[in-house]
Amino acid sequence: MVHVNDNYLKLPGSYLFSEISRRVSAYQAAHPEAKLIRLGIGDVTQPLPPAVIRALHEAVDEQACAKTFKGYGPEQGYSFLIDAIREHDFLPRGIELSGDEIFISDGAKCDVANFQEILGGDSVVAVTDPVYPVYVDSNVMAGRAGELGPDGRWSRLVYLPCTAENNFIPALPEKRPDVLYLCFPNNPTGTTLKYDELARFVEYAREKECLILFDAAYEAFIQEDDVPHSIYEIEGAREVAVEFRSFSKTAGFTGLRCAFVVVPKEVRARDAQNTLRALNPLWNRRQTTKYNGCPYIVQKAAAAVYTKEGQAQIRAAIDGYMENAALIRTGLAESGLQVYGGVNAPYIWLKTPGDMDSWTFFESLLTRLGLVGTPGAGFGPSGEGYFRLTAFGGRENTMEAMRRIREAGHWSVWCGK
Ligand code: PLP
Repeated sequence: MVHVNDNYLKLPGSYLFSEISRRVSAYQAAHPEAKLIRLGIGDVTQPLPPAVIRALHEAVDEQACAKTFKGYGPEQGYSFLIDAIREHDFLPRGIELSGDEIFISDGAKCDVANFQEILGGDSVVAVTDPVYPVYVDSNVMAGRAGELGPDGRWSRLVYLPCTAENNFIPALPEKRPDVLYLCFPNNPTGTTLKYDELARFVEYAREKECLILFDAAYEAFIQEDDVPHSIYEIEGAREVAVEFRSFSKTAGFTGLRCAFVVVPKEVRARDAQNTLRALNPLWNRRQTTKYNGCPYIVQKAAAAVYTKEGQAQIRAAIDGYMENAALIRTGLAESGLQVYGGVNAPYIWLKTPGDMDSWTFFESLLTRLGLVGTPGAGFGPSGEGYFRLTAFGGRENTMEAMRRIREAGHWSVWCGK
């Protein structure tokens, strides 16, 4: 008889978003007149920039002509895109990468989920808590997480709580992990690490021989000068860190799909004989075997993001989202709520008031104001007592949501406390 991978059976159902949608549907069915505003999703609402659309059309036309037609491309990505990334995203920050250190893909979600495959099955993994669930679930699937306890923690994972008490800056792990996932600017908390705070992790990883998997999917949203955009801005990071980037939120590619991973040649891990092995050739091997490359037309579209026009257009969209974030921050603060994030990231993280749990707050927001957000508990045990709103909604929806909050007055009125 065929056996399933039992690790998959350990995964709890995708409870968070299905539960949100169940509750929202039930409420809408009972109140068909209610105009609900969804500020819970992490998807963009602005269309692709015109420069990207033009590049897509041109690339499609190339595919119609035998002379310019492209079949299978390099699994690692076309050099026109890799060179644009090196020149625009890294060189201006003093980071020199060679072309074969960048791997283009169709998404940071699959990259962060797949990368663990080239690491030992018994590696000890540390995650910040709350966390983007893909880091945890992909390690559960690989059998590294142990068992899920009643407190919502996996027995073999190391959790680094990020709460208001530590200003959402994780402490260094007490127990040495092999692998450490860091995501800054952070989803869901919307907070970031400054140079010296990130440098502590790089130093720790170098001293303890750990690997940092650094998710920089939201780097384009950084507004403040003292926040690193890439982990390679920190000295020594090339030896211990792999970085994940995405065009999804930066340029509206959530549907088109393009991302990349940086695997510097110096990053190494030990084999069974205790010999140091570079990860770059292993990731190359993995990609060339299991992946056939991001479509040519999509890579052409991504390259258009780096043109002068493309840069101006994506900047305008990001600025618009960050203005939404500022509106949300102000609106919530005016109703007496404690707000975090939303300054260098499109996520606003708020403390649920009056010791309310995050699902009770969800219900108040839904039933009293017709607003939908995401309960923090869904992102990990330390997310309990918090709530996430996103700045990706349209401007009108965001303004309408804040109008409802302002008119409802202090939270104690509409939260029924
Ligand atoms: N990393 C983080 C932290 C995210 O929040 C997301 C998407 O929400 C991703 C990665 C996925 O990015 P992509 O659309 O490139 O798969």
